[in-house]
Amino acid sequence: LIYAKAMPVERTVPTAEEMRAIAEELAGQLRAGDVLVLSGDLGAGKTTFTQGLGAGLKVRGDITSPTFVISRVHPSLSGGPALVHVDAYRLGASAYGSRAELDDLDLDASLEEAVTVVEWGHGLAEALAPDRLDIVVTRGDDDTDETRELRITPVGPRWAASGVRVSVLENN
Ligand code: ADP
Ligand code: MG
Repeated sequence: LIYAKAMPVERTVPTAEEMRAIAEELAGQLRAGDVLVLSGDLGAGKTTFTQGLGAGLKVRGDITSPTFVISRVHPSLSGGPALVHVDAYRLGASAYGSRAELDDLDLDASLEEAVTVVEWGHGLAEALAPDRLDIVVTRGDDDTDETRELRITPVGPRWAASGVRVSVLENN
């Protein structure tokens, strides 16, 4: 069996502004029902990436790391899909084995109508979303170095034909 498989996209991202710009461009390729799973250490840039998505989707409200809430809905200001921003960090057990807690959020209800981003969703969101973008942000050991490595892996039939395109920083 031969089937189309979208290739991962990798970028070196020198600044937070460029991280937002890449996500903003990616937002133009997203539609209701899409799911993005963001992985990476604390401070890597997952929320920064989500801010760019929010800008691209033209949604209401500041996108921050939620302290007390696990999920926040940002309605569209332009008639497009809302952005559902989930931070699964507090779901405990570093995501694994907490499927029931994610189920409690009743995300299935919103998945259809929104673009859903799950920070710390690795191990959780996979079961929920066979079609998704797995996005990994990594930083080096040097805390003063702002450079990040970004890897976007399209998974599932949704992305098989189109793949993802990121033209920002096309030179790297
Ligand atoms: P996370 O959600 O992964 O814990 P945040 O996005 O909240 O991380 O924080 C990332 C921090 O790193 C922000 O203060 C951001 O301004 C900073 N930063 C510096 N360089 C970059 C970069 N290249 N990409 C993303 N964030 C960066
Ligand atoms: Mg965060």
